[in-house]
Amino acid sequence: MGPGISRAGYAAAALAAGGLAVAQAGPGITALRPVRDRFFPRLSGQGRSGHVALTFDDGPDPAATPLFIEALAERGLRTTFFMLGARVEREPALAAEVAAAGHEIGVHGWEHRFLPLRGPRATFADLTRARDVIAEASGRVPWLFRPPYGVLSSPALAAARARGLTCVLWTCWGREWTPGADAAAVYATLASGLDGGGTVLLHDSDTTSPAGSWRAALGALPALLDECSRRNLLVGPLGEHGPAWSPPGL
Ligand SMILES: [Zn+2]
Repeated sequence: MGPGISRAGYAAAALAAGGLAVAQAGPGITALRPVRDRFFPRLSGQGRSGHVALTFDDGPDPAATPLFIEALAERGLRTTFFMLGARVEREPALAAEVAAAGHEIGVHGWEHRFLPLRGPRATFADLTRARDVIAEASGRVPWLFRPPYGVLSSPALAAARARGLTCVLWTCWGREWTPGADAAAVYATLASGLDGGGTVLLHDSDTTSPAGSWRAALGALPALLDECSRRNLLVGPLGEHGPAWSPPGL
């Protein structure tokens, strides 16, 4: 996600899953949440009730990602990072470091491009290139895909399927890209959407948001993790989010 793009982006989007397509002409993907949650729980990020999947988008970022890794290591947690291929190409050692720390790495596209405006060939090339550069840097072939801005297209779904990538969005976000958002505001937003079985979206980079906005996400992390503990919710990567959540072939 990012600032200022969601409305136009969402309105233009077509959301599809499991062979069914849901055309979207309304105000946003969030309007489809009840439908999405009920019929496409995995796309929505719904997992087992005692677990919260924690995900970070838009990295790796040499200024920010190591601090997230450190904060998660202090809690003994592994999570999922959705990375941009172009950033992994620039920072392969950092992607390797994330993987070595036990985190899962998913594909967030090559660059942060709005997929519904791209054709099938460009979309396929984008996902393939990102998948390959992540596999090379991390030593593991990714199996998860989160589209930039959370907006899928039919070509993106087809490309993800062809490349063995499972599409996943989120149930809860911190909106740290909101101008002026600080850790307290991000935590308040997170807390309002936090629920067992959910998938939390934060950003370990300011690729698509105001400079330094990741600091608000990092600052909100301890309170979020404390709240999960208080509610007896385990926090982990999407790969541990429930029986339906494992890499294909496992
Ligand atoms: Zn993003």
